[in-house]
Amino acid sequence: MTERQMPEGPFSGGCQCGAIRFHALALRDNPHVCYCRMCQKATGNLFAALVGVRHEHLTWSRGAPAEFMSSEIAARGFCSNCGTSLYYRAQGGPHVSISIGAFDEPQKIALWYQLGMEGKHPSLFHLNDIEEAGTTESNESEYDIARIRKSNEQHPDHDTDVWTARPGVLR
Ligand SMILES: [Zn+2]
Ligand SMILES: [Zn+2]
Repeated sequence: MTERQMPEGPFSGGCQCGAIRFHALALRDNPHVCYCRMCQKATGNLFAALVGVRHEHLTWSRGAPAEFMSSEIAARGFCSNCGTSLYYRAQGGPHVSISIGAFDEPQKIALWYQLGMEGKHPSLFHLNDIEEAGTTESNESEYDIARIRKSNEQHPDHDTDVWTARPGVLR
């Protein structure tokens, strides 16, 4: 069996609007998806994709996430400005499980296992059989794509010196 290797740090990431940014010096060897019902609701999606970052390796470099205590033992962190789901944290645990999609380069973090199989959505077993399209090949018109590009409020996938909430963005 080939040894699996975690990618070398440091890593950066943040929420969609950029109010929350983080740095991770190293990742734990547990990148996974979880299909359990609590992860589904916490992300509003079919699964959470998470990787552990030890507390001593994690810095919130801009802003501070809000937390919802999803049970007595666990908190779910998110950006209170844009709503991005940022982490799962077990009370007293050694690490924070950060949303892989929130990293600036999520494609560098390969998944190693899947949890909560009882909650896995039936269609996810057949993803390779479902029709595929790239973002710009979907139903959006050229006009709409140009408007999305022009008005894109998503923070870029790298650290920035300043961030200002633009008036009128929050509704
Ligand atoms: Zn945000
Ligand atoms: Zn879960």
